[in-house]
Amino acid sequence: MVVKINRSDDSPETKAIDVSYRATTNDTKPTVSIVCPFYNESGIVHAFYAALRDKLDQLPDYLFEIVCVDDGSSDQTLDELLELSAQDRRIRVVELSRNFGKEAALSAGLDVARGDFVITIDADLQDPPELIRQLLEARNESDADVVLAQRIDRRHDSRAKRATASAYYSVHNWLSPVKIPRNVGDCRLMTRQVVEALSGLPETQRFMKGLFAWVGFRTVAIEYQREPRFSGRSKFSWRRLWNFGIEGITSFSTLPLRIWMYIGMTGAFVTLCYAVYFVFRTLMHGVDVPGYASLLVSILFFGSLQLIGLGVLGEYVGRIYTESKRRPTYLVRKIHGLERKS
Ligand code: UDP
Ligand code: MG
Repeated sequence: MVVKINRSDDSPETKAIDVSYRATTNDTKPTVSIVCPFYNESGIVHAFYAALRDKLDQLPDYLFEIVCVDDGSSDQTLDELLELSAQDRRIRVVELSRNFGKEAALSAGLDVARGDFVITIDADLQDPPELIRQLLEARNESDADVVLAQRIDRRHDSRAKRATASAYYSVHNWLSPVKIPRNVGDCRLMTRQVVEALSGLPETQRFMKGLFAWVGFRTVAIEYQREPRFSGRSKFSWRRLWNFGIEGITSFSTLPLRIWMYIGMTGAFVTLCYAVYFVFRTLMHGVDVPGYASLLVSILFFGSLQLIGLGVLGEYVGRIYTESKRRPTYLVRKIHGLERKS
């Protein structure tokens, strides 16, 4: 099994973990990696670990490793994670060199995870650790490659967030050939095959919800109730969500580029009809001075359409530009607990 870090990296760390997790254990139990991203979650680390350990202890048929990705936290998160990893040998901490965002942190965790199954879960206890058992059970019952955890209600999200999320799923799935399932966060179980497929995707800007959907595989869903955040605040401000949304759409659909052709064609057709009508009217009634307001409105309207079109073009050109630089998705400062046997 080859685990790639930074995608084109040949660092000693990459080589060091180029070892199957199974080779480091003498057990024949299936191995499960729990991958969780942490960004300034210092109030949560211990509670998360206590809840997780409790649930993992109830699953003696599996060997677990816990891959905690510290996404450049500026508070005590990293120290607390290292403290825990000194106590519990199953914990490995991937320290990123700065804050790269949740998508990159998840990619890092997936690249480092060595288990036969990988479960991604948020650190804020919004996805209850109890889900781990349910995900594994669902996998055993169905032999699926991916088990999704689907939120049955978003009661704890604000009304505005629910409405925008719902509108976003509709717009994204209308525009994009890759449909993302509604109300599915990043909490899911994947087999090693799926994880390798994801790690092998070359793009550096990673909209994980879309990539998860793009790789496909046999998928089943289980339902769960999403809890409120254990403490602290969501790291996704409205501005960040807006950028995230635009990134999702432009990563998976080119319709926003093509749509301008249709809008242009419709506009040209309407203008042509108007020109014909205008010629006839002039022939029959002679020249008059048409309304100034309608002229101004149409100029402004079409001017704005052109600006929006340019903006959309710019978004895609920007993405091509960023991808063409081939910068890695994330940089690892250090992997703590790397060579440990479990
Ligand atoms: N997160 C991260 N990097 C970031 C932002 C968030 O690793 O730049 C982590 C965060 O610590 C948490 C998970 O991603 O474990 C989900 O974040 P959050 O709870 O803020 O998002 P929400 O649940 O509101 O979508
Ligand atoms: Mg959360």
